[in-house]
Amino acid sequence: MLFNEPVFGPIQSRRLGISLGINLLPTESKLCNFNCIYCECGWNTKVEKKKFNRRDDIKKNLEIKLKLMQNENKYLDSITFSGNGEPTMHPEFSAIIDDTIILRNQYAPAAKISVLSNATMLANANVVAALLKIDNAILKLDSGIDETAALINKPQFAYSVAKIIEYMQKLKKQMILQTMFLRGTYDGKKIDNTTEHEITAWLDAIKKIEPREIMIYTIDRKTPADNLQKVSFDELDKIAEHARKLGYKVQVAK
Ligand code: SF4
Repeated sequence: MLFNEPVFGPIQSRRLGISLGINLLPTESKLCNFNCIYCECGWNTKVEKKKFNRRDDIKKNLEIKLKLMQNENKYLDSITFSGNGEPTMHPEFSAIIDDTIILRNQYAPAAKISVLSNATMLANANVVAALLKIDNAILKLDSGIDETAALINKPQFAYSVAKIIEYMQKLKKQMILQTMFLRGTYDGKKIDNTTEHEITAWLDAIKKIEPREIMIYTIDRKTPADNLQKVSFDELDKIAEHARKLGYKVQVAK
């Protein structure tokens, strides 16, 4: 499923309420430095021309939509950067966040600004600074174990959980950690990030990152990889309980 507009919705989000989406990525194809086996946008493709949506188009479309919603007295919980890939890869991500803060303050001051990110661009100080300005920097870590993360997220570069944890620590305990739990097989290999070994590594990562909050969820739509299974709500809640015992607020998406 690809979003074919730079600003889309509002939609009812499982985790963020009434959410107006912003897609900084190409509208004709996905662009991400991960290739997650569960990605709702499908697999990465080899399209030659991958154009980011332009900053001025995003700004113009967002203003039109927010003005319209204000005139119609429509409530908004969140302006959410998600879309067809990894939003922080946009070269003007930081400036677009500044534009969004101005427009949010003008037209929908009660709305939060949220960014869903795979956390791989946190080596860039501008990206970190931009994420520190918003309400919800929601950053992905699907496993505390390199081999499992490699299987689930299929990073398109040398990926290290330890490095990502180090990056996340730059968010000064303001970030929200997001983890997808699933089971299945892919490429002849068994995947299950709910085992005791996995949960121990995940909790160790949480203790190092010290996120403000944790969101856990499971598959909700068709996945690009076959043979993946969702995890039941009861199992997710048991996993959440481990983190709650460490003092963290955990939201389990239904
Ligand atoms: S990080 Fe997000 S956009 Fe990128 S492949 Fe994974 S789920 Fe898809």
